[in-house]
Amino acid sequence: MTEPPHEPAAAPPAVRPEAPLPPGLYPVATPIGNLRDITLRALDTLAQADLVVCEDTRVTGRLLARYGIKARLRSYNDRNAARQRPAILEALKAGKSVALVSDAGSPLISDPGYRLVADAIAAGCRVESVPGPTAAIAALQVSGLPTDRFRFVGFLAPRDARRRRQLAELAGETCTLIIYESGPRLAASLRAMADILGDRPAAVARELTKRYEEVRRGTLDRLAAAWDSAPKGEIVVVVAGRADDPGAGREAGEDIDAPIRAGLAAGDSVRSVADAVAGSTGTPRRTVYRRALALSREGSREGSREQPREQPRERGPADR
Ligand code: SAM
Repeated sequence: MTEPPHEPAAAPPAVRPEAPLPPGLYPVATPIGNLRDITLRALDTLAQADLVVCEDTRVTGRLLARYGIKARLRSYNDRNAARQRPAILEALKAGKSVALVSDAGSPLISDPGYRLVADAIAAGCRVESVPGPTAAIAALQVSGLPTDRFRFVGFLAPRDARRRRQLAELAGETCTLIIYESGPRLAASLRAMADILGDRPAAVARELTKRYEEVRRGTLDRLAAAWDSAPKGEIVVVVAGRADDPGAGREAGEDIDAPIRAGLAAGDSVRSVADAVAGSTGTPRRTVYRRALALSREGSREGSREQPREQPRERGPADR
């Protein structure tokens, strides 16, 4: 009989608490929700390490208790890292084995640990990964977006102006973007993404591997409209990269007036000019559409009969 997915069993017999663990620092991945998403090697390492360094001793204590593991825990987080690091490095230099975990997922991935690893390497200590879950990869896998090349962005800035500047810097990226988000900021963040990146295909993955796991896929405009209030839980947004185009490498928004004017002068609609110029220059379609609308209105005042629609057409995955 298969076990219910969210109720982990007691310690599996495969855990080997007594086996020797060579001295060194071991970043160990832990589950991002479902407690059964932990590798046998992670359990072995946590059981065998002389010291387990973790963000919150209560969170890691609960995980270890679930698997019957007793360990010496020491907290290491954004608030105390500078204070704690010297003692951990001393333990490593003294030949101890140290496991490093975060509250959930892979340590060092939008979580503490980078400086400790860098200092351990500089001190000549062995550093060995015990890999496992990370929300970024889990979200990418279920997004339905290209996985051959991706950029892990982590968290965007909480303030809108800075976030929009960051997004403008990402607008030319042709690979898939993976962005960590929180419920309260999701709606504003999706709105900013739609405005600045254009109406690209995207996916919002919420509470992955947990009871209320949910993945919504659509274009950024649609997703922004779908989430106008703050959802609960943990969230990853995955966004398609800028469509490959002959203008790749050029600055977004560069030289769009001339082709827009040419298209409008030829009698094309704002919509089809926006499609064509976005495709040929790599500028987000929304940006091109707005500019085309403005130029066509200028033209209207001079006698043009162009009557553009207020909203740009959704661009689905098939258009990419
Ligand atoms: N180190 C973790 C990892 O490997 O994914 C990430 C830690 S970061 C502080 C926490 C963020 O990861 C959350 O705000 C959310 O964006 C993402 N995250 C973590 N668990 C998640 C889950 N179960 N479902 C969706 N996103 C999750």
